[in-house]
Parts: sequence; C-alpha cells; structure tokens
Amino acid sequence: MRTILHVDLDAFYAAVEQRDDPKLRGKPVLVGGSARRGVVASCSYEARTFGIKSAMPMAEALRRCPHAIVVRHRMDRYVEASERFFAILGDFSPEVEGLSLDEAFLDCTGSERLLGDGRTIATTIKQRVRDEIRLVASVGVAPIKLAAKIASDICKPDGLRVIAEGELLPFLHALPVTRLWGVGEATREALASLGLSTVGDVARYPESALVGRLGAVTGHHLAALARGDDPRPVEPEHEAVSVGHQETFDDDIDDKGELSVILLDQADRVAARLRDSHLRARAVVLIIKYDDFRQITRRTTLDAATSDGGVLARTAIELLSKVTVESRRGSRVRLCGISATNLEPRDAPRQLLFDEAARARGERLGDTLDKVTAKFGKAAIKRAIHVPRGSGDDSE
Ligand SMILES: [Mg+2]
Repeated sequence: MRTILHVDLDAFYAAVEQRDDPKLRGKPVLVGGSARRGVVASCSYEARTFGIKSAMPMAEALRRCPHAIVVRHRMDRYVEASERFFAILGDFSPEVEGLSLDEAFLDCTGSERLLGDGRTIATTIKQRVRDEIRLVASVGVAPIKLAAKIASDICKPDGLRVIAEGELLPFLHALPVTRLWGVGEATREALASLGLSTVGDVARYPESALVGRLGAVTGHHLAALARGDDPRPVEPEHEAVSVGHQETFDDDIDDKGELSVILLDQADRVAARLRDSHLRARAVVLIIKYDDFRQITRRTTLDAATSDGGVLARTAIELLSKVTVESRRGSRVRLCGISATNLEPRDAPRQLLFDEAARARGERLGDTLDKVTAKFGKAAIKRAIHVPRGSGDDSE
C-alpha cells in the first residue's frame, strides 16, 4: 500500500500578502491586477465568505464585497515562498510532484520507517510550513492520489485528513460523483438518469451497464475510480522540456489547408496535455518533414505563456504560411507536428496583460474542452476556427 500526501497551501497569494502586511489580516483581501479589470488571482478566506472565488472577474468580486481590499500581486514574493515550500517538502521524500507553486503530491511510502507514518509526516510538514514560511498548509493522506487530493481539499483551511486503507472505499463512496476526476455536467446528468448520484452508487452499478450508457472509456474509468483503483504514480518534477504531437501520413500532403486542419487537432492535443500537467508554453515549434526526408523546424516565441489550443494552433498555422508546400517532389509533406516548449508551471510568475481576462477565459474553455473530450471522444469536438482551404500559399 502506498502513502501519498497532497499538500496545498491555503489561499496562497492572499496568505502571503496577509503575512507580509499585518493591516490585511482578518480582512477580505483580493489579489489581482487592478480593481477595474482582470480577474481575482487569489482571495483570503474572509473574502470567500462573500462567495468570491479565484478567477472571478474583479468587478464582480467587488460588487459582492465592496469593502474588500485589492492588492496588486507580487509574484517575486510568491515564487520565493514557493521555493521554500518545495525545499521543505523535499526533506520528506525524493518523490515530490509539483502541481503548481503551492501544491504538490508526495509519495512517502519509502520514508515512513525513518520519519513516521503518514499522519506524523503530514503534521511535521504543516508545522514546518507554519514555522519557517509562516503560511498554512492543508494535507490529505491516502493510499491513492485521487483520495489524497480530495481529502486535502475538503479539510481546508488548516486541515489534516488521513484516509487509511480500510477507510478508502467508505470515504470515496460517500462523495458525490462530481468529485471523480473527469465527471462534468453531462456525465453527472447521465449518471443521474441512471439514479446514480454518489460514488457508492456507481460502485454498486454493473460496470457493463455503465459502459453501455457512458461508453467504454468513461464507463471503465469511473468504475475503476469508484473501486478505489487509481494507480497513477507520483511523478517527480516534470522533466519534460517540450510537449509535442506529430504524425506521419500514409499519403504525402501538398495542401496547406489540409495541414492546417491537422495542426488544429494537434494543437488541441498538445494544449490538453499542457493543462493536464499544469504547464504553459512560451514557444511553439512547427516540424515539417518532406517526402525526401528533409526536415525543417520553425519557431515562434509567444508574448505570454499559454495552454490555449487556439493560440497554439494560430501560431503554428502562421509558421506554416511561411514554409514551402507544393505538389512537386521534395516539397510534399510526409510528417507534420507541433511542439510546445519553454515550459513553465501554470502558476509561474508572468505579467498580467490587458488580455488577462480573455486568456483566463480561453484556458477555462480549454478545461471545458478537456472534460467534453474525456466524455465523448475527440470526434465530438470541432473548434470553430477559420482554416484556409484550397491550394493557395496564403495561410492566415
Ligand atoms: Mg492552494
């Protein structure tokens, strides 16, 4: 049995601000770009009692709580706190998987003999975070990632929840189905139409019937999670320097319009993997291999890091517009692909730009697309985008 910890700092940016400025303590604090535009990057628990959440438009948050104090974000302070946070976590296990600046999974299975059981390790981590960086962490301890993450989430703030092996199924079964990874509104409705509203309901339902109603991928996935079957390992630090997708064609392609459609699909796949890994990319590389096996790459650096498939696709299609694709030998394309590089964590410091809110919307749309894809498969999704057709050389 594994001992997995999910450690998550409470209201991270807002907590750093309240720590550094005593005048902010006990008050509703909103961290964001400015009061007039942009979104709430983080808010204190005092602000949450007004129904304010992160990613909410700042204007809406101020409508709900006009006396909230808006603080401009100071990424350098958050990065510094994050580095100290991860240094502490590293003392408890070599296997630390960072999900964002303030959140990580640890596999402590091998550390227990030396450091004590999961509860002891979690208690020590919370104490050190409090003593050394004066912040508050909530920790979930469980034999699987799914349960550890849910446990830390429901015990916030300043929580510690241990799910022992024998408690795993009772714990999961009492949860609403929406707590399961991959269950969005449409799946919830489909499950409700079968009379299933809790994870326990799903666990007791015949798996074959679940597959019949939801399809093989989702049906088996949900049945496995409901059994407590989540073998995902804790994966230390993203070693990935790029996330890419490429394919070789059965028949060479000499049409930029056709290649653009392929790039669009590839960009969406790459974006989904970036979001899965809580990463953003700051550069896009187009890879083209011709029918004479000559390979070229073209690269663009973006103004702001992104995990938005639309941005990746537009960038790649623009790069495509500048390369030669023709019907003569040596100019026909046998392979094309996209690689997203210069990766950074999703919550890494970056300038808040004027289009911050628009980009946040784009990424939320991306998250929604991931959920829809998980449910209905790739074919269900066609992002509406103008793709030039025909053999013209002018792509947008
Ligand atoms: Mg957090």
